[in-house]
Amino acid sequence: MILEGKQLIGFAVSAEGGSVFQAPNPTTGETLPTQYHKATKAELELAAQKAYDAFKVYRKKSGVEKALFLETIAEEIENIGDALVEIATSETGLPAGRIQGERGRTTGQLRLFAQLLREGSWVNARIETAIPDRQPLPKVDLRMMQRPLGPVGVFGASNFPLAFSVAGGDTASALAAGCPVIVKAHSAHPGTSELVGKAIQQAAIKSGMPDGVFSLLHGSGTEVGAALVQHPHIKAIGFTGSYQGGMALVQLAANRPEPIPVYAEMGSTNPVFILPQIMKEKGAQIAQQFAASVTLGVGQFCTNPGMIIANKTEDYQPFLADLETQFQNVSGGVMLTGGIQKAYTQGIAKHLENESVSIVAKGVEANGFTAVQPILFKTDANALAQDHTLSEEIFGPTSVLVEADSKEEMLRIAETMEGHLTATVHGTPEELAEYADLIDLLEQKVGRLLINGFPTGVEVCHAMMHGGPFPASSDSRSTSVGTAAIYRFTRPVSYQNFPENLLPDELKNANPLAIWRLVNGDFQKA
Ligand code: NAP
Repeated sequence: MILEGKQLIGFAVSAEGGSVFQAPNPTTGETLPTQYHKATKAELELAAQKAYDAFKVYRKKSGVEKALFLETIAEEIENIGDALVEIATSETGLPAGRIQGERGRTTGQLRLFAQLLREGSWVNARIETAIPDRQPLPKVDLRMMQRPLGPVGVFGASNFPLAFSVAGGDTASALAAGCPVIVKAHSAHPGTSELVGKAIQQAAIKSGMPDGVFSLLHGSGTEVGAALVQHPHIKAIGFTGSYQGGMALVQLAANRPEPIPVYAEMGSTNPVFILPQIMKEKGAQIAQQFAASVTLGVGQFCTNPGMIIANKTEDYQPFLADLETQFQNVSGGVMLTGGIQKAYTQGIAKHLENESVSIVAKGVEANGFTAVQPILFKTDANALAQDHTLSEEIFGPTSVLVEADSKEEMLRIAETMEGHLTATVHGTPEELAEYADLIDLLEQKVGRLLINGFPTGVEVCHAMMHGGPFPASSDSRSTSVGTAAIYRFTRPVSYQNFPENLLPDELKNANPLAIWRLVNGDFQKA
């Protein structure tokens, strides 16, 4: 498979810029051979203009037509075959099995959105029929449904080179909503981005989509990325990455003459609360599963549990010993980029400077250019209250065990927590009822609550919420995983007193698409 290192602008390729970059292999430290041209201002302008023009056509495509497009993208990604796995592993250091699994998740989520579009009720159609003789004033005919926002800018994530990148959740949901997409490729996996980008390009041509429905640009975030966010044709942004990166985009978008929404998923510590009785009954099993969850994928998951809170009852010491043993047995691995490795090392060093923090255990060292070692820290509730950096995310295979002296102290920890993607409570049925106030508090802090499980592993389905109150994400009302993500790229439009022939099919009297609609307050499909 030959990589070209060029921009994909609609149906064309382009390499006008003289400035190039190469991606490193994080396992070996070697520089990979392909040179990628950074997009020029003119190339960005062309991609934005094409997206603007494409929107006029694409926004009118039916659910069935868009579904076919998404299904064709999934097929084209599968058609790339082993080359995708080879390039993705060389660029990310992730094992082949993980990339193959992620490819399945990526094509699966494209097909899930296709199903949603074929069924059609997602548009949330609402119809209020007119009552001309209503007193004291007549009631008008009003019909409402979700419509696409316009061209969307997507920033691929480093830690999911397929499922959260070029054809990942944000792209799938934007295309499903009826929005053209321009992706700013992540500089850590440009070859993977090119292969997947070409699959989308081919799928767009094969399924009769307009030129400009998709473009892929290479280049730095602060240049190409910032210009994309500021371009007047762009109407929304999807981002997964660091707090600093996400907030930079939020501010750029807010300062535009026309501010636009930025859906930035920025990081989370995902606290896990262990209640006393379950610690007594299942402490060993929880310790084993927790160590596996923290170190899965070298801890490079936004749902990685970076904090575990346990009550210091008489059963605490055996639990601590189990955690120590389990962490001594888990292995480190290669991190996605040198930058992520550096951030991990700095975060660990900062914890070690804090006199109230001690090391419970270190895992097995790994080999590789960006390799890191797992590490479990321990502190107490007072130290946590005094140093909020202890509850901030360190991206990688590490976690902090927080000792609480009482239920009240657990509640105080929950009360002062910032927003996270998830929170987990382990407890027996009786103590879960007893700790209902803890669960109630946590519900106000996170997007997903788990009982007796672990937060890594995010199911792509209709009921997933992957997001959370700030700083986990910039907009807690929206998910970046699952079909509900389609709503982040839509807005409601009302049609008042429209003649039948001018109404979208979704709102016509006869309901030709046979979708669920709220008609005069009643849900019906007739
Ligand atoms: P990142 O540095 O935030 O970069 C993500 C994307 O945003 C890249 O395309 C980057 O461009 C761009 N970008 C970064 N700062 C920008 C700015 N100021 N203006 C415009 N664009 C900008 O994330 P990363 O490189 O993937 O990983 C770095 C850290 O992010 C990790 O250590 C971890 O803490 C966090 N992270 C969190 C998650 C999560 O799930 N929430 C996932 C991955 C990483 P470039 O190509 O120029 O870098």
